[in-house]
Amino acid sequence: MKRIASYALGCKVNQYESEAIAELFAEKGYEVVSVEDTADIYVINTCTVTNFGDKKSRQLIRKVKRQNPQAVVAVVGCYAQTAPEEMKAVEGVNLVIGTKDKGKIVELVEQYQPEEGVCSYVTDIMHERVFEPLEIKKLANRTRAYLKIQDGCSQFCSYCIIPYARGPIRSRAPEDVLAEVRRLAENGFREVVLAGIHVASYGKDLKTTSLLDIIRQVHGVEGIDRIRFSSIEPNVVTEEFAAAMAELPKVCDHFHLSLQSGCDKTLKEMNRKYDTAKYRQAVALLKKYLPDVAVTTDIIVGFPGETEEDFRQSADFAREMGFSKIHVFPYSPKRGTPAAERKDQLPNSVKQERSHALIAVGEKLAERFLQAHVGKVMPVLFERAVEDGVYEGHTTNYMKVHAKSGQDLSNVILPVRILSWEGEMALGEVTES
Ligand code: SF4
Repeated sequence: MKRIASYALGCKVNQYESEAIAELFAEKGYEVVSVEDTADIYVINTCTVTNFGDKKSRQLIRKVKRQNPQAVVAVVGCYAQTAPEEMKAVEGVNLVIGTKDKGKIVELVEQYQPEEGVCSYVTDIMHERVFEPLEIKKLANRTRAYLKIQDGCSQFCSYCIIPYARGPIRSRAPEDVLAEVRRLAENGFREVVLAGIHVASYGKDLKTTSLLDIIRQVHGVEGIDRIRFSSIEPNVVTEEFAAAMAELPKVCDHFHLSLQSGCDKTLKEMNRKYDTAKYRQAVALLKKYLPDVAVTTDIIVGFPGETEEDFRQSADFAREMGFSKIHVFPYSPKRGTPAAERKDQLPNSVKQERSHALIAVGEKLAERFLQAHVGKVMPVLFERAVEDGVYEGHTTNYMKVHAKSGQDLSNVILPVRILSWEGEMALGEVTES
């Protein structure tokens, strides 16, 4: 039996796709092994969100080829899509496939003859209009399932290469989404995370549905207790949207709302489609309808031309929003994007300094968020035992909780009183009240 390893670098969408690719091979009788093992076929789902992502992708390709010099190495994903010639030149690569046609991967690998050298199947993605279905039927973790409902992005933020890697927005048909959610529920999953490259755009291409529609429909699936989204944007959060979230009890009161900068000048230069006033309004609406809501975010520091004053505004805005977690990214120029062409790039030392300063702001806010929950009783969906008799799970507003129990709590929702916290972790006890 031939052995295949399918591995994703980068985001949750890549991880979903790599799981689905592994299943396609398994259905054809291949044995699925880890990327650390010796395999006959390696499928590497590359990431190109930063130049560092490119480097990691190249390193992994070389590593797997060293593990088995006879293996067929197929590279798929964003880096392969945007730089196919560069991929072809990486030693060890046999097939370059890009972000399209992943569903045909078994066929392409089986057809491959080593004497052909490196074969490239990368085609234009910028005019793609159809969502390519890839499904996951079996998952290792049986609590939370990521579900890809959308692909592509048409926002063209000035620092981001993803619209060129993934093409325009394409939404998965609602009936396909629902069929997969039902199957996940039948397999015991209690939580689904609706994921995509730009989930906020869900439905805009189909015109017959919207993000709110699909949330309502997923909400109707019996057996699913919790619904989350990978990331949304402030423009989605209207009064109607926030009110609807509060009326749908399965929707978790945690939203990842990308901010990227808390300075209007920088937001404009980033070509983000909102300003701080709009963002502030979105957070206020979420807080109005969901009093315990957690808002997490991503912020880039050291964007070209960002002055000390711009950075100060950004940090002040983050404090004002009271995020429960901030993912801080020092700006990294990405070839092929307008921001990378700018002459006013900042030195790494400035980016590092601002990054440390904003991480410190984020840590303070996270502590404040955890502290505010001490004494509260909250439902926790337990996922797994982390040590003997200690279980880990999450509240609806995405606090990670550890609690002791003599029983197996995996995949069980129980009320937990939050007693204290340590680092990013809340410590609690299971209670019946
Ligand atoms: S919204 Fe902006 S940052 Fe996000 S994938 Fe699209 S272009 Fe990139």
